Amino acid sequence: MTKFTDLKLDPKVLSAVVDAGYEEPTPIQAGAIPPALEGKDVLGIAQTGTGKTASFTLPMLTLLRRGRARARMPRSLVLCPTRELAAQVAENFDLYAKNTKLTRALLIGGVSFGEQDKLIDKGVDVLIATPGRLLDHFERGKLILTDVKVMVVDEADRMLDMGFIPDIERIFQLTPFTRQTLFFSATMAPEIERITNTFLHAPTRVEVARQATTGANITQKLIQIEPARRDQTAKAKRELLRAVISAEGEACTNAIVFCNRKVDVDIVAKSLQKYGFDAAPIHGDLDQSQRTRTLENFRDGKLKLLIASDVAARGLDVPSVSHVFNYDLPMHAEDYVHRIGRTGRAGRKGTAISIAVPSDEKFLSQIESLVEQEIPRAEPPEDFELSEGAKQPARKREDAKGGRSRGGRSRDRGGRGSKRDQRSEETQQPQSAAPQEQQEQEQAPKKAEAQPEEARSEAAPEAASAPKPQSRSQSSDEGGNARRSRGGRNRRERDNEVVGMGDHVPDFLTVSFRPGAVEETAEDKADS
Ligand code: AMP
Repeated sequence: MTKFTDLKLDPKVLSAVVDAGYEEPTPIQAGAIPPALEGKDVLGIAQTGTGKTASFTLPMLTLLRRGRARARMPRSLVLCPTRELAAQVAENFDLYAKNTKLTRALLIGGVSFGEQDKLIDKGVDVLIATPGRLLDHFERGKLILTDVKVMVVDEADRMLDMGFIPDIERIFQLTPFTRQTLFFSATMAPEIERITNTFLHAPTRVEVARQATTGANITQKLIQIEPARRDQTAKAKRELLRAVISAEGEACTNAIVFCNRKVDVDIVAKSLQKYGFDAAPIHGDLDQSQRTRTLENFRDGKLKLLIASDVAARGLDVPSVSHVFNYDLPMHAEDYVHRIGRTGRAGRKGTAISIAVPSDEKFLSQIESLVEQEIPRAEPPEDFELSEGAKQPARKREDAKGGRSRGGRSRDRGGRGSKRDQRSEETQQPQSAAPQEQQEQEQAPKKAEAQPEEARSEAAPEAASAPKPQSRSQSSDEGGNARRSRGGRNRRERDNEVVGMGDHVPDFLTVSFRPGAVEETAEDKADS
């Protein structure tokens, strides 16, 4: 068994590792540190939770111990897909570099450029950044990348998901050909393979086993409900979530609740708060200072329930999370593995409870085939009952077409309804809460002043409105994800839809245009 003392780390770095309480290197550390210290490129195939951050930080600190950074010319770069992950890497750096004089700067979006500029101007040994913010600094002429000796790409598969690969390629091209590259990804998609073939030189490949999802330390459960009314699904899921959290009682010391969409992160958080739960949301659209505060509170045990999107929670390292709740089953099977891996860390016990509805069938079978096991089914808590609305069978289509809602008010089907359709198409989430569903009353036992309508009307426009123009730095962090889902798979799917009229050609299509009429139409268009 390899020991840390076998790894030829700088003694100051080694003593920090001892202080951190690590007894022996994890497999990715034992595999990646020796070739990295020899100056070789490393291709690490490992997920978060395997100790991969130390597997690149420890050799970097050792390699950089000699030499000094010059103004605006960092000596190494660590690229991370999200702000949170970058901040976490910076924390790790501080921990392992505490006995050295090496300096670092964190360049992430949502924070003013001024402070970041000052640090870069002084000269830093390690620059930890999200790709967009790094390029922003470069384009402003504040950063020179020709002195980069080591470049780390962390969570490359997430970079791919978020549309950052072109930025990464550009950054590779801006750094010297002679740099050493340490490249980490949980999976090797063809695009990732292409990048590594292009930019890595004879890398040492270190692969560690996929994180075990069936480890005895994580108890998994799946609770399936079948609301008779589809428009009541979201409400029923929120009711079930509350019942499940309550049923776990004191065993649930803290938990992450995952939702697939940002809008649901807000709705679920506000609904839980309204019912007296200690909950707060985190997703990419929230102000950075709020995100940081929420995460700190959760880490420090001051916040019990963190309601999160996948991207915001990516790579979050909170050692003792007792529970993970999947309010939605994730649409990508590997996210299930990432999500439940937030609990049961460092050998602790953990519980992961997922809620599923019939429309999740496809996602469920993909998850179960990936993890090669059936997630144990569980019954809803004893006192849980679907609310009356959810039990009633759906109204007949004809009734709905008549435009009468349950309360007798006419429903704006062309307005909000069409936005809902548009939104669910964007997010591929068939069972999601629609705005009109969100208007429904929930009778809360506490905090009567916080009306659910308020909570929801705040949250709903976020997804329903057209995409806001984004600054480069906004679009370059989590925003990239949204961009991808709008422009990527969903658009392709829409493009594939062929709508035709068969052999019939309506008469108006065969009538030739009068020139005047054409001009008028063009002007009309220009005016509009
Ligand atoms: P990571 O995969 O880098 O997110 O690391 C996951 C967790 O493992 C972090 O909390 C690290 O502090 C911890 N860790 C890293 N290396 C070791 C080690 N050799 N022994 C014990 N814990 C470690």
